Amino acid sequence: MTFDRFGRNINYLRISLTDKCNLRCVYCMPEEMTFKPREELLQDHEILRLVSIFSQLGFEKFRLTGGEPTIRANLIDLVANIAATPGVKTLAMTTNGLLLETLAKPLAEAGLQRVNISIDTLDPTKFKKLTRWGKVDDVWMGIRAATEAGMQVKLNVVVVRNYNDREDVVQLAKLTVDNPWQVRFIEMMPFGTVADFQQAGIVSELELRTTIGESLGPLTMVNGGQLDGEARLFQIADAKGTLGFISSVTNPFCAGCSRARLTADGRMRLCLLREKEVNLIEPIRNGASDETLIEIIREGIWWKPWGHGLSEDIIPLDRVMSEIGG
Ligand code: SAM
Repeated sequence: MTFDRFGRNINYLRISLTDKCNLRCVYCMPEEMTFKPREELLQDHEILRLVSIFSQLGFEKFRLTGGEPTIRANLIDLVANIAATPGVKTLAMTTNGLLLETLAKPLAEAGLQRVNISIDTLDPTKFKKLTRWGKVDDVWMGIRAATEAGMQVKLNVVVVRNYNDREDVVQLAKLTVDNPWQVRFIEMMPFGTVADFQQAGIVSELELRTTIGESLGPLTMVNGGQLDGEARLFQIADAKGTLGFISSVTNPFCAGCSRARLTADGRMRLCLLREKEVNLIEPIRNGASDETLIEIIREGIWWKPWGHGLSEDIIPLDRVMSEIGG
């Protein structure tokens, strides 16, 4: 097991498979985005080596993200090899779902167990406006394919004031009445060049619960308020699914954080909202042994920051979300 200096057991790695994406969500990155050249990104064998090393350090849960993880070349083989690495207990992915219609079945067969699919509205016009390029029908086909492939499905909704904070949120919450999904409402977080827009658009968990409750009836707390990962769970009366609220800004969950992140360019990032990173790609490419890498990672995790500094106006400016892997 690997602990940080606050006694937190860090055992969950989120791996960004690419910084590139086939959408340009307004809260995530600018439309004209410059991506890293391929040779600066981790290659498959480097990712697999790191997964094996992190497993030796007691990491059990791995999530593939990006950018958009499904656009990475050779994805199915990579997933199969990660799933087969000794010590990997849970393998999940966060995706926009656009390519899942064809990829869900082979991904599930390769060992992917869970998928979080981002869908911020059911309205095609608004979806296009929020994602700049996307068609909501493609996401729906992806959600169906993932469900049919037997994967556990959660839906991620980033809420943006004046875009999707009212009827869209209610419609998305309503999906849990008939489907066994967790629909998770995520407070928008400020990053890099899009920070001003993000800060102006934050909608708090409390406001959202009030909006949903007014239309769909009182929400009951699930699990006595205990967090499910980073989400606080609620339920509409008699619903098959649950509502999750991820309130990183107004009600952070840093005390229970068990995560580290691996960026597509091979840095271990210790908190999504802090700029502190540990360079792993450089020692790997300079021939470091597994023992040396284990020491570098252990030392980095020990110094993991307690939490974000948003209340002190400390906003990470070095990268946007797609580069870190949300
Ligand atoms: N492309 C994939 C997707 O759309 O799910 C994976 C990467 S994306 C960066 C991961 C998650 O981060 C998505 O649910 C996305 O909506 C969310 N996200 C992006 N920018 C965000 C921000 N500024 N604040 C909160 N969540 C954000």
